[in-house]
Amino acid sequence: MFNRPALTAYERANKRRENLNRTSSCRRKIGKNLSCWFIFGVILNVTACSVFSSDHLVPVGVAKIDITPSYSVRLNGYANRQRESEGVYQQIWAKALAIGFDDHPVVLITVDNCGVPASVSDVVAARIGKKTGLLRRQIAICSSHTHCAPMLTGVLPLLYGEPIPKQQQANIDRYTRELTDKLVHVSLLALAQRKPSHIGWTVGEAKFAVNRRRKKTAPVDHSLPMLKVTDQKGNIRAILVRYACHATTVFGDFNRICGDWPGYAQSAIERDFPGAIALVSIGCGADAKPNRQKKIEHARQHGEEIAGEARRLIHQNRFHSLNGKITARIDEIELPFAPLPTRQEWFKRSASTHKQTAYHAKVYLQRLDRGESLPTSVKLPIQTWIFGDDLAMLFVGGEVVVDYQLRLNRLFDSSRIWVNAYANDVPCYIASERLLKEGGYEPDTSMIYYDRPTQFAPGVEDRIINTVSRLLPLNYRVPRK
Ligand SMILES: [Zn+2]
Repeated sequence: MFNRPALTAYERANKRRENLNRTSSCRRKIGKNLSCWFIFGVILNVTACSVFSSDHLVPVGVAKIDITPSYSVRLNGYANRQRESEGVYQQIWAKALAIGFDDHPVVLITVDNCGVPASVSDVVAARIGKKTGLLRRQIAICSSHTHCAPMLTGVLPLLYGEPIPKQQQANIDRYTRELTDKLVHVSLLALAQRKPSHIGWTVGEAKFAVNRRRKKTAPVDHSLPMLKVTDQKGNIRAILVRYACHATTVFGDFNRICGDWPGYAQSAIERDFPGAIALVSIGCGADAKPNRQKKIEHARQHGEEIAGEARRLIHQNRFHSLNGKITARIDEIELPFAPLPTRQEWFKRSASTHKQTAYHAKVYLQRLDRGESLPTSVKLPIQTWIFGDDLAMLFVGGEVVVDYQLRLNRLFDSSRIWVNAYANDVPCYIASERLLKEGGYEPDTSMIYYDRPTQFAPGVEDRIINTVSRLLPLNYRVPRK
């Protein structure tokens, strides 16, 4: 049975909003739309060990919702865009995958967006929690990091190097509210649509990601973990893939709504497996980019490469089954910044010929003038879902660089670890110690766009790895025999 650990500091901080009745998981109040499943779930819980564990049938629901705005809105990701979006090239989506029995289901949401912030994720989780009793740890929100989706309130707010006009900000705020509602809705749909299914996972490969700092010599993660959900007749209901690469195939003056390669991967997989819903999450690919960029056709090709590998893996049919016993945990850590610039340094920067650098410095000088204290750290959520001894799925906030994946692969059994980045929050890049020493865009200048005062202090990599180590069971430290 589900072993519920004590609330983490992160969940305690969210507890007030969640307003939960946790006296007993069996007595938990389930929303009206889940009542049928609840009755079914109670019956199943009694017999879960003897029935479902024996043939690995797990309640799974999957749903999708169109999140394409019906109006123009500033797109996030590229600093050079000066106008609101100019049409829709491809619809964008939020998808939800609900897995598990009523005493401990989890909901994984994937979103075609540059970055969903904690301010949205926590509200979504709290609203789902109010209706279903789910805790924050049971809900994960993964952004695809497409650079062709609407900006959300507070994410990369200094990207354009100038104040966002009032009417444009109003549209950003409007879309953020609408997206929040849709993320709640799609999650409830997935929970309500759970039915007995088989879940299997495996790992493939895609090769279009290259390290964007040093294309030939720096590391990159080409692995493509994939989770497949089938019904009792063997029909595929859902496919989740994760790949570690920026969704920056199209760039420059492209100012239309588009999912980039994750969007094309989803549509190609759904074309290949009619009736299935495809979800894409992003791994530790913050220093990786597609090997072919610029044309929309390249984004389509990258998506087709992912879909082709999904077809091959399904044809090969070497999936490890998961039995639905899931232990979810979440915590939040503080990552400290290096010493902040002095007023004199801010003043000097405010005269920079680089528009964003100058604007960033002016914003910080204004804050100092108003007597505000500047932030000395940023919060980062880290979440784990443990599927028994079979799979540990990690969710790390921010734009996480490949060194984290490589270090986790060395520390843990890499054959049972699945790392999702851009998860639950995207506060900034999460540079490694190596990149902090090297300097450059990811550890340093990118902080300007994210409205962070400076780069991280040394030691953040260890803080993150230590937290993951604390959240993961000991038996993941060694390869399974
Ligand atoms: Zn990025």
